[in-house]
Amino acid sequence: MLAVVPPPVTVRVPAKVNLHLAVRDVRADGYHELATVFQALSLTDEVTVASAEESGIEVTGEGADSVPTDQSNLAWRAVTALASHVGRDPDDAKIRVIIKKNIPVAGGMAGGSADAAAVLVGLAALWRLEIGRDELAEVAATLGSDVPFALHGGTALGTGRGEELVPVLTRHTFHWVLAFDRQGLSTPAVFAELDRLRAEGDPPRLGSTEPVLEALASGDPNQLALLLGNDLQAAAVSLRPGLRRTLRAGVNAGALAGIVSGSGPTCAFLCSDADSAVRVAAELSGAGVCRTVRVAQGPVPGAKLVTGDDLP
Ligand code: ATP
Repeated sequence: MLAVVPPPVTVRVPAKVNLHLAVRDVRADGYHELATVFQALSLTDEVTVASAEESGIEVTGEGADSVPTDQSNLAWRAVTALASHVGRDPDDAKIRVIIKKNIPVAGGMAGGSADAAAVLVGLAALWRLEIGRDELAEVAATLGSDVPFALHGGTALGTGRGEELVPVLTRHTFHWVLAFDRQGLSTPAVFAELDRLRAEGDPPRLGSTEPVLEALASGDPNQLALLLGNDLQAAAVSLRPGLRRTLRAGVNAGALAGIVSGSGPTCAFLCSDADSAVRVAAELSGAGVCRTVRVAQGPVPGAKLVTGDDLP
């Protein structure tokens, strides 16, 4: 008798920007304690999972050359983690993962985490698992601190390493312009640079997330623009001084404010509306300060099946 092979499943998953990223001191486990407000943006990767005779990963699109296609790919680690979680032998999981990247690699927008979250949602559908979002979020947290948010989407407050999430009420679609740099930045290197800057002096630290949450609830981009903040920005700029010019160029082009996204080097510019974002993007492209410019909006949902039924 022929085994029935389930059809491939495709998942769309968003990038994130941190509207507020407060980095506290290093904990005993070596991680920094964070207080962050994430927003999911309409810049998405598309990940297909399929049953196959040979396991493997294919990556195409934005920065594909610098993404590993072996077991170190976070998407593959997600296959292994979910298989183990549901009692399947990961070595028997014959799965092909096809990743179409739009999220810049090592860009501070959690692209690898997004792909891992997409695999969790895709495999749960492919294997017809009786598993809800909460249980998937537990598996996600074992893969990395940004993976639960990629699953969750929307806007959320993250604490701990960023993996403990509470949804945040927002009253507006916010319009962003993203400037991709020519080369990525390593997240551990940026945290190490922040530790170095803090050992040398006492760079200013962000305070409470409360004002940002109020601005999000009000829906006023002008108010939010004044409150965007990222403790990693000084470290990213220290490692990549050209980012100062990029940040200035976006504001000169008409953005309300600009910020380094997460550990960088992508810069995210908040604009007053969709038309303004298109104008800022056009002017920024012509300024020669970055490799590529994209327009995006947020918040958008987390990892979602492109076709078929979503999770329970
Ligand atoms: P974060 O904002 O979560 O710190 P990032 O957006 O700066 O991450 P990623 O694009 O997630 O960075 O990639 C970081 C590194 O992880 C890359 O340099 C790459 O070698 C590796 N990597 C593993 N899996 C993936 C994947 N699926 N997509 C992109 N990079 C991956």
